[in-house]
Amino acid sequence: MSDSGFPFNSPHADVILKSSDGVNFRVRKAILAETSSVFDGMFSLPTEQSAEADGAGTPALQVVDMTEDSATLEGFLRLCYPADVCTREPTFEEVSMWLVASRKYQMDRMERHVVHTLREFIATSPLRVYCLAVRYQLGEDLVRAAARGFLDQPIQVAYGHVPELDGMDTAAYARLLDYHNRCSAAVQQILSDPATAFQGGVWSKRCWLLCHSERNDFRFRSSSTHVFCTLGTLSDGALHATRASLWFCQFMDRCRALAKEQPSGKEVSSESTIARALLDAGKCDYCRDQAWDDMHAFAQILARTIDLAIKMVQCSYLTYLHDSPD
Ligand SMILES: [Zn+2]
Repeated sequence: MSDSGFPFNSPHADVILKSSDGVNFRVRKAILAETSSVFDGMFSLPTEQSAEADGAGTPALQVVDMTEDSATLEGFLRLCYPADVCTREPTFEEVSMWLVASRKYQMDRMERHVVHTLREFIATSPLRVYCLAVRYQLGEDLVRAAARGFLDQPIQVAYGHVPELDGMDTAAYARLLDYHNRCSAAVQQILSDPATAFQGGVWSKRCWLLCHSERNDFRFRSSSTHVFCTLGTLSDGALHATRASLWFCQFMDRCRALAKEQPSGKEVSSESTIARALLDAGKCDYCRDQAWDDMHAFAQILARTIDLAIKMVQCSYLTYLHDSPD
């Protein structure tokens, strides 16, 4: 048995919450009653005063045995005590336990804080956030944001085990995988036929399209011997087969392969994906000078177009994603 540190060791406390691992948290009933309707009800009931008293004759405080361990209890008590700020970032497991506690003790304010905090875990643990958001019906916004974050990670993540899957409805999990497939198909469509997806100068003025037609002028302007890139075909089911520099066709091939697993604008526009294309473009005397600007500009547009297509899929399946088994 031990006592918690500040501010849960106050001599002015009027109740002790005892954690499952034997730590005493001396707190004020009024503060807990304000944040939890369960505590509010509990403290409004008449209590049996302990016969034990300390040496000064002061009655011993009421002790409430809690099922939560001290780490969980401290986490959510800090949220109840507005004057005290926890400077350490909570772990996902801690936030998850706060969620369970906030439901159990009907702490609406804490649940809002949990939803807000869970958003910060979408970038690193989207599947775990999705599972909790669906299971505890934490709102459409969080479900959608977690599903969207899920696309930014390799699909292998979906086949790895996370603890939250244990309590997950299989239909909700299947919906997430189906959403992934739908987004992947939408992105493949853009990548398979860029000449249709991108119009005007955004597409037609790029070095990978001009290299073939302008290389003769380029050769004429300079007397030295030049090396140019070979041509490839941007097709793969496209309506319009377009001839372009092979290094760019290979870039689009890689984007298509990437998008099957990770249908989002994040990876296709990453510096590593662009750098690989630039390495090949650098071998062509015509493409070399323009490729850096063209690739960075195009990759940004490509990423935005992909993200917009994903948004459209999500809009169509808004209720579909949000359907809860509960
Ligand atoms: Zn070239």
